[in-house]
Amino acid sequence: MRQIIIIGSGPAGYTAAIYAARANLEPLVIASSVEAGGELMKTTEVENFPGFPEGIQGPELMMQMQAQAERFGAEIVLDDVTNLELDGDVKRVTLGSGAVHEARTVIFATGSAYRKLGLSDEERLSGHGVSWCATCDGFFFRQKTIAVVGGGDSAMEEATFLTRFAEKVYVIHRKDSLRASKIMQERAFANEKIEFVWNSQVVGITGGDAIDGVVLRDTQTGVERDLALDGLFIAIGNDPRTHLVHGKLDLTAEGTIAVQGRSSKTSLTGVFAAGDVIDPHYRQAVTAAASGTVAALDAEQYLASLPAEQPAGVGAPQLATA
Ligand code: NDP
Repeated sequence: MRQIIIIGSGPAGYTAAIYAARANLEPLVIASSVEAGGELMKTTEVENFPGFPEGIQGPELMMQMQAQAERFGAEIVLDDVTNLELDGDVKRVTLGSGAVHEARTVIFATGSAYRKLGLSDEERLSGHGVSWCATCDGFFFRQKTIAVVGGGDSAMEEATFLTRFAEKVYVIHRKDSLRASKIMQERAFANEKIEFVWNSQVVGITGGDAIDGVVLRDTQTGVERDLALDGLFIAIGNDPRTHLVHGKLDLTAEGTIAVQGRSSKTSLTGVFAAGDVIDPHYRQAVTAAASGTVAALDAEQYLASLPAEQPAGVGAPQLATA
């Protein structure tokens, strides 16, 4: 049986793995079959992760984190979790391959997924003018004309932030009033660089190697028109990836996994959570990494509190019976 299984391989998962491995806990990291490395695998230049003054490519950063975890003995499995049994002293994690791994603790670090518009060119132009993160990519749009889609606090925050760089920022919203809090709305309304485009849905993104505009449809008249742009930031919400623990762990009103205070302790003993899956607010690589550290330390402390006579060690996965 394992001491720790870590589910997720973004900055939170890999940082938890580095700490757990350095504590000789030989963690197993379930890194996903297609999304190993998490959201940063889809970004280009990361300029705000401390320690890389010249910036680093997102995928390169994640490969470095993986290598660092492996160097200290973490084992990485490229597979997806299909079932979790988290009650009781022994946790069971079933994978797509059918293998069942057991551990005394589980760290859940599955991250969150940006909501997508669902347009065919959205993925193609992602990283080529289409972005979900103003903090990450705003710097590339100095003196440019860009747009933010959405009417919530995220969209207002992103639009306001982006005026530091861009010459003009449109806010494209499908209604004629905002969902955002009053203070965020007022800040955006007062900003001379921001222009609101009301009752408008983005129905197309255009451009060859990079975005050159969007097609907007008026939600009241159905009339379509083109809007020329150098960049498009999509801020229509974010969903923590919690489907594996629905009905198993307590969630917050915002849909993230509930943890006790600043710890990573979930509603079940021996189960810890870290990164975007517990964080509705900050959602940065560096805050996720810090959160992974907290989870590893919490798990380590929990393991140290268990009776010494319980057998420890790394075992082979059992074969599923079903
Ligand atoms: P929200 O769910 O609050 O808002 C999403 C916005 O996107 C809504 O205006 C919604 O439109 C719009 N939208 C959703 N789907 C689509 C779509 N397919 N096409 C076009 N528009 C769409 O998400 P946020 O990320 O803005 O905020 C999440 C939480 O985080 C909130 O609780 C928020 O208060 C909080 N937050 C707080 C901040 C702060 O205080 N500094 C900063 C950022 C977030 P509609 O209104 O029509 O439903």
